[in-house]
Amino acid sequence: MTKELILIVEDNEKNRKLVRDVLQHKGYRTIECESGEEGVRLAAEQRPALVLMDIHLPGISGIEALKRLRADPATASIPVMAVTASVMTEDRRAVIAAGFDAFLGKPISVKELLAAVGRLIAAGGGGRT
Ligand code: MN
Repeated sequence: MTKELILIVEDNEKNRKLVRDVLQHKGYRTIECESGEEGVRLAAEQRPALVLMDIHLPGISGIEALKRLRADPATASIPVMAVTASVMTEDRRAVIAAGFDAFLGKPISVKELLAAVGRLIAAGGGGRT
């Protein structure tokens, strides 16, 4: 049985592969891209149940991409989890202030990733397919 669609926005191939493999192993469907601009476009087009958003991306940042998702009624209610290694205080503040639904640190813990994904999809799932 296939589960919800999850969009992975991540420019690092290794991280993208890790997240993709873990989620697909658990039965989730995934789509992915390497930039925030593409992530915003894909989210509007595919309406994933959840977006995993890297912060440091080529082009617009994950924070700017979140703002654009929230500004569009088509994507405003999709839960978005920041996935970031940002340890600098200012960076961290900006990420928290941006209004993400959750955060996941890097290096990525598979256990934490799956727990957070399960929680967010249960909370935001509603009638979404
Ligand atoms: Mn990155």
